[in-house]
Amino acid sequence: MENCLFCKIAEKKLSAEIVYEDEDIVAFKDINPQAPIHILIIPRKHISSLNEINEEDIPILGKTQLVAKELAKKFGIDTQGYRLVLNTNFGAGQSIYHIHYHLLGGRFLKWPPG
Ligand code: AMP
Ligand code: ZN
Repeated sequence: MENCLFCKIAEKKLSAEIVYEDEDIVAFKDINPQAPIHILIIPRKHISSLNEINEEDIPILGKTQLVAKELAKKFGIDTQGYRLVLNTNFGAGQSIYHIHYHLLGGRFLKWPPG
């Protein structure tokens, strides 16, 4: 997708601190971290938001969560705990319209979120 920041990161046209990638998924550090560990996990496929997913996206979205689990372990936050967040549309704070999960951890995370 042209002019999509996260498509550009996935295609290595824009630099990011990539911590995981495979044929379907890319994960990189958030440029403005909200916790000691703050990683964004995206499918390579451009999907604007959760509102646009359909049945064919089920495997890729499931894999995203498997990658989140593996990264939580790799970054040592699996035991203490972590949060996987997916903001959808402006009312939830979505600012980049390429679906992404935030993996947050390394500090105590309050509930409910703001
Ligand atoms: P959201 O507000 O849920 O759409 O999340 C977008 C996230 O992308 C924010 O946490 C930003 O800090 C992050 N972000 C924006 N640009 C970049 C970038 N070039 N590299 C890494 N993270 C970014
Ligand atoms: Zn995109």
